[in-house]
Amino acid sequence: MIDLHVHTARCGHATGEMAQYVEAGRARGLDVMCFTDHLPMPEPYPQHYTMKAAELPAYVADVLAAACDSRATGGPEVLLGVEADWLPDAFAHVEGLIASHDFDLVLGSVHFLGDWAFDDPDLIARYDAWESDVLWERYFDEVANAAGSGLYDVIAHPDLVKKFGTRPDVDPRPWYEQTALALQEAGCAVEVNTAGLRKPCREIYPSLDLLKACRRRGVPATTGSDAHAPAEVGEGFDLARELLREAGYDSVVCFRKRVAEEVAL
Ligand code: ZN
Ligand code: FE
Ligand code: FE
Ligand code: ZN
Repeated sequence: MIDLHVHTARCGHATGEMAQYVEAGRARGLDVMCFTDHLPMPEPYPQHYTMKAAELPAYVADVLAAACDSRATGGPEVLLGVEADWLPDAFAHVEGLIASHDFDLVLGSVHFLGDWAFDDPDLIARYDAWESDVLWERYFDEVANAAGSGLYDVIAHPDLVKKFGTRPDVDPRPWYEQTALALQEAGCAVEVNTAGLRKPCREIYPSLDLLKACRRRGVPATTGSDAHAPAEVGEGFDLARELLREAGYDSVVCFRKRVAEEVAL
């Protein structure tokens, strides 16, 4: 299996050094793992969610060194990726940083609605200001915008809005269709992200219905644990594989130098 979404302590809210993550990947028997630490965001976005801008070159060098070490010792193939926020008012900043290094993979994530990091447990009180249908509509509009931006190879945790268990009153499937169409038109892949299993929503991102909509439109899929601790690398992948099969997938895609290559499930 391939785990294309792995963080390290460098982002400030994960634990464990890079070598420990690679070791964990080896123990899980992963074929490929891709480090995707959070890309720095410009002011006035909060600076504590990501590595510092000045650290990006060191991050890149560390991943390349880890890849060498792992290759030399028969460990998993280690790829250089990044998780980049969708920040519509900071497009040039994000685009510039993505272009500044030779990444294998760029994950696009909607974590912000305006200035609100809605997936931050410390900011959960702000859910009270939203009617759930309005929140879901706004979220999926941003996902479509992120996909359409052309910045990203994969949209990560594509229904992150459910993280704390918020559900809409209306049928969400029109938003799933909208998302699948946006991914198809953009040539973006969808991520099957097992971190949701560890969160209050207790389910993989995305839901089966959203993944089925992607499958119907021929949108390729990737797998990622979104590990923020070494023990989480490759976690829940049996369930991820089951969900993918149930949605009709028999392969996923891996990215090297931002080019997708099919891998059997
Ligand atoms: Zn994180
Ligand atoms: Fe994320
Ligand atoms: Fe992540
Ligand atoms: Zn993430």
